[in-house]
Amino acid sequence: MIHDVVAQLDNLVSTLQTLLYIDVVQPLLFKFGFMGYDEESYDALYWVIIGALEILVTYVVLRPLEALRPIEDWTNRKAVRADVLYTWIAKLGILELGFFFAMQPFFNHLQSLMAIYDIPSIDIDSLWPGVTDHPLVSFTIYLVVLDFAGYWYHRWQHRIGVWWELHAVHHSQQQMSLWSDDRNHLLDDVINSAYFAALSLLIGVQPSQFVVLVAVGNFLQSVQHVNARLPLGWLLERIFVSPAFHRRHHAVGYGHEGTRYGCNFGVLFPWWDMLFRTASWNRTVEPTGIRDQLPPPAGTSRDYGQGLLAQHWYAFVRIVQRLQGRRAYQ
Ligand SMILES: [Zn+2]
Ligand SMILES: [Zn+2]
Repeated sequence: MIHDVVAQLDNLVSTLQTLLYIDVVQPLLFKFGFMGYDEESYDALYWVIIGALEILVTYVVLRPLEALRPIEDWTNRKAVRADVLYTWIAKLGILELGFFFAMQPFFNHLQSLMAIYDIPSIDIDSLWPGVTDHPLVSFTIYLVVLDFAGYWYHRWQHRIGVWWELHAVHHSQQQMSLWSDDRNHLLDDVINSAYFAALSLLIGVQPSQFVVLVAVGNFLQSVQHVNARLPLGWLLERIFVSPAFHRRHHAVGYGHEGTRYGCNFGVLFPWWDMLFRTASWNRTVEPTGIRDQLPPPAGTSRDYGQGLLAQHWYAFVRIVQRLQGRRAYQ
């Protein structure tokens, strides 16, 4: 069934790709003298359309919920604007897919070298032959393995001071919304994409499945940031990371303070937090953000920047301050 849905979607995207290419992209390439890039542009357009469709579906499903059942009422939505820009850049830039396809020949070569020298592969199908024959089974296994890697990636983002300064861009949003998931430092985005693409290739994820894994992961993570009351119930909340669970991770004083302290790092599933004792199920709605953004005496009214450029620049300034030993606070 999943196969049919993916095939139908592929058809739809391919039709859009051809239409847009002939009517928009090709005339532009011709006009600006870039016809040498026609093949690459045609291929990239496919992923740009996937990204745009993702944003459209997320908005259509989640925005009405935010309007009908908000957790926090805001009179001014200005702070959300930067996150909308982050989302368009992240989704249309299609970093993960770019890295996956760019690194594929290298990993194919690596795997044949490993076979020649008899080095055991960690490709899931060779560890457990036949298990990936069923698309749904292999999809679930890949999702769980990558999510485990995501949990640790997220813990390192909090644990390693310099890395935290990049991740602080994500946490500095005090008005969480369906757009907040992609509010990440672009350098962190690059590291993240390379990490997951490399890992996926290493465990043998096929390109068609990688596309779906990225799309499902992105959608679930947008749901977690939504400013809407979505009580999943006791059981579902322990299967998937809920908005309440992730909001706790963003809560000032609870989710991310100190190098050892912090809770709810799970990306899609809260299982790793339960296993490694970092889960908090407290549902109290707390202010979100970073403590030093608060006015004194609680914080220092630190400005993390309103727009994308300022947020990127300030992150580098904080990294330099940290390296010079002038910043210990996490
Ligand atoms: Zn975090
Ligand atoms: Zn978040």
